[in-house]
Amino acid sequence: MSDKTLLKNGIVLTLDKKVGNFHQADVLIEGTKIAALSPNLNAEGAQVIDASDMIVMPGFVDTHRHVWEGILRNIGTDVPLEGDASYLSLILNTLAPVYRPEDAYVGNLVGLYGAIDAGITTILDWSHIQATREHADAVIKALQESGMRAVFAYGYPWWKYPDENQDKWIRDVARQYFSSKEQLLTFAIAPPGPEFAPFDATKSQWELARELDVRITVHVGVGTAGKLGKLGEMGRAGLLKDDTTYIHCTTLSDDEIKMIVDTGGTVSLASPVEMLMGHGMPPIQRFLDRGLRPSLSIDVETNVPNDMFTQIHSIISLQHAMIFDRKLAGKRNLPPFMTSRDVIECATIEGARANGLAHKTGTLTPGKEADLIMLRTDRPNILPVNDPIGAVVWGMDTSNVDSVFVAGKALKRNGQLLNVDLENLRRMAYQSRDYVVAQSGFRLPEI
Ligand SMILES: [Zn+2]
Repeated sequence: MSDKTLLKNGIVLTLDKKVGNFHQADVLIEGTKIAALSPNLNAEGAQVIDASDMIVMPGFVDTHRHVWEGILRNIGTDVPLEGDASYLSLILNTLAPVYRPEDAYVGNLVGLYGAIDAGITTILDWSHIQATREHADAVIKALQESGMRAVFAYGYPWWKYPDENQDKWIRDVARQYFSSKEQLLTFAIAPPGPEFAPFDATKSQWELARELDVRITVHVGVGTAGKLGKLGEMGRAGLLKDDTTYIHCTTLSDDEIKMIVDTGGTVSLASPVEMLMGHGMPPIQRFLDRGLRPSLSIDVETNVPNDMFTQIHSIISLQHAMIFDRKLAGKRNLPPFMTSRDVIECATIEGARANGLAHKTGTLTPGKEADLIMLRTDRPNILPVNDPIGAVVWGMDTSNVDSVFVAGKALKRNGQLLNVDLENLRRMAYQSRDYVVAQSGFRLPEI
């Protein structure tokens, strides 16, 4: 069988300014890569896929999700971040501690297949469920089975912190699974961060990441704790570098925001979660004013949907609302509004950058890996297509996701996930959910 696939006659949004976008073009996939891209490609021996009713574009990139929470979907939609009955008390301190490795595995599987189904090709799994070494093995197994491009961000479990075993397990995992960076699954370290751990512990975790030459992903500026100036202490100690993604940043000071920008950091905003759960006002404008475009992330499926369309709608609406509010108050010299093109780039190439993968994914560029999605334009929610970028940003939803390719391999075709036994997944999800809920004493919400 040929390892060439030709996507023929699609609307192609490469999102690569040098390559441009096309009202009609072909994309040639060869092996794992995009081999060529232009109108009227001739590719002898290639399997041809008709893309004439499709928008072809880079897959979405989620830069921070606690994927193990997949079996806890929507379990805390009315629950805030902090307080007596909160995300911290119920999810992290009540439900998480009873997870067995198999529950982490199943939580990951449902989260990952949901992500693929929604057109996400790369995910950073912020995985703070490593109660034992076996939990890490289970999560990595799910990540590998899914076929997604993923960053396994090894997190320290918050309900049993500190735990003297963790640094050894991190070294073991790095050696066992991540000796190569040329694989779908890459490695990062997800320390609790300066607001949730003593300075010396945080410093040594960041040093461990640098010794292993992997990226750091960290929650900062989170609600009340974010106001304590802890990131500033790290910055003044010279610890902030361009190898770190800062999540939320909602209650940081301006000095701390500036430190992130000045040291080349990347940012992940989860604006639906931040607004819904009380993390603080999403700092979209504070970063845009300083020339940094954030990436976007789903964060917790306990509260919010699993797709990037929701992320896009949320962040661009918020940014516009804040600027219009200033305009209506008579303010002048206002910053520009985010455009549809800006926000689609936040959900793709900025995500790839934050995950340390911009050289491989995030745009449709010949030579990059073939991580792409095909979005149906013949559905009643979107036709006729007048502005393809506007259509993706405002008109489409997950029902338009027809096909998903990662490294040239189809994971979804004709609206159906491939390589997954959904009946078995369903059975495992309910079994694990029932076990975790019963063991923890948590009561599912009344209806
Ligand atoms: Zn988070």
